[in-house]
This record gives sequence, C-alpha cells and structure tokens, in this order.
Amino acid sequence: MTPGERLANIQSRIRRAEIESGRVEGSVALTAVSKTVTADRLQAMLVAGQRRFGENRVQEAREKWPALRTTYPDLILHLIGPLQSNKVADAVELFDVIEVVDRDKIAGALAREMKMQDRYPRLYVQVNIGEEEQKTGVQPCDALNFVRRCRDIHGLDITGLMCIPPHGADPSPYFAALREISQGVGVEELSVGMSEDFERAISFGSTKVRVGSALFGVRSSG
Ligand SMILES: *Cc1c(COP(=O)(O)O)cnc(C)c1O
Repeated sequence: MTPGERLANIQSRIRRAEIESGRVEGSVALTAVSKTVTADRLQAMLVAGQRRFGENRVQEAREKWPALRTTYPDLILHLIGPLQSNKVADAVELFDVIEVVDRDKIAGALAREMKMQDRYPRLYVQVNIGEEEQKTGVQPCDALNFVRRCRDIHGLDITGLMCIPPHGADPSPYFAALREISQGVGVEELSVGMSEDFERAISFGSTKVRVGSALFGVRSSG
C-alpha cells in the first residue's frame, strides 16, 4: 500500500468505529505517530493530507519538524513521550499539544515558559492508568487533585487526558477507567488507542487516537 492508501484505510476504520459506537461522525482525530520515521516518509504522509503528528522525543521533533512547518503551517504536533524540565522551553516552542503533563514541577515550568514565549499549546495530563512502576503519569487516584492543582495553582488550562494501558493486557478496563476520570475532572479530550486497539478506544470515548505502526509500518526501534 502507498502512504496515501494506508492513511485512507485508517481514516475509514476510524469513521466506521465512530458509527458503530454511536459517536458523532468526525469526533475522533488521528494523530499519526511519526517517531523514528524519516523526513521523506513524513513528506509522503503530508502530501496524502495528514496534518496531526505525534513525537515522543523533543530532540527528534526539533530535528524533523521546523523545516516541514514552513511548508505546512497548518501542522499540529503532539508531544506524547516523557518531558524533562530542561526540555520544557523547547517543547513549548515546538509542540501544539503536550499530552504528558504529570507533575507539579513540569506544570510550573510549562506555565512560566508559556507566558514567556506567549505561546499556549493545549495540555493533557498523562495518567499511569495501570499503576505501572516503570511508566510516567499521575496515579489514577491522584488525577483529580493534580488537574485541580494545574488549574488553580499553576493557572493552566487542562483540556484532556492521555494514557498508555499495560502492554499485552485487555485495554478495555483501562479505557473505561480513564473515561471515568475524565468525566470527574471535566475535560473533553481523551488521547487513547494505538494501532492494535484504536477502534476499541473509540468505543470508550477516545477523541484522539495515536496510530504509528499501522500507518508507517513496523518500527525497528523507539
Ligand atoms: C509509539 C507510540 C504510539 C503508537 O504505537 P503503535 O502501536 O505503533 O500505533 C502511541 N502512543 C505512544 C505514547 C507511543 O509512544
């Protein structure tokens, strides 16, 4: 399949899942996860019409995207990988959506940096929905309080939640748990669902599916 055919295939699966789940048509957007994908292959996906992309490393995004943004000013770039405080300034400069807010130190740094740059990416809080030791994200039981602190102490507008369910497990209970938290904290956006399970995620209220390998092929690393 050509990149355009792959994209059309994923888009039509998203539309079908919306219909089957009784979701509003067009309410789910595709974030094309382009980590490790080289600029020429990105170009093909851009030519095919895709504009929303996700990267998991700030440094990699810095190398790949600024040049492409001059040609495609309507790009929407999501940061979906862990954010260290020394990369916050770069993240605010490069990304339109930062999905990985998960601690006060980062929230405070984002607030300061956004004001300084007068640039306001949308912010999601990452929830460690499976309470896995090796994963980043706030614990589910802390999510409500953390979102409140982001709003009340740091003055941040939190518009969504993101999670990565435990690898190899049935994701449904985790999708359901994240949706429940999102209703409690009052956010619109849910970034859940990857290549293997995005249709299921849509049935649990996902508004942003993060699809990598089903679009770009299997990665050798990353
Ligand atoms: C790599 C990655 C994805 C995409 O995974 P695929 O299984 O290739 O679709 C989604 N979300 C995050 C956070 C990732 O790091």
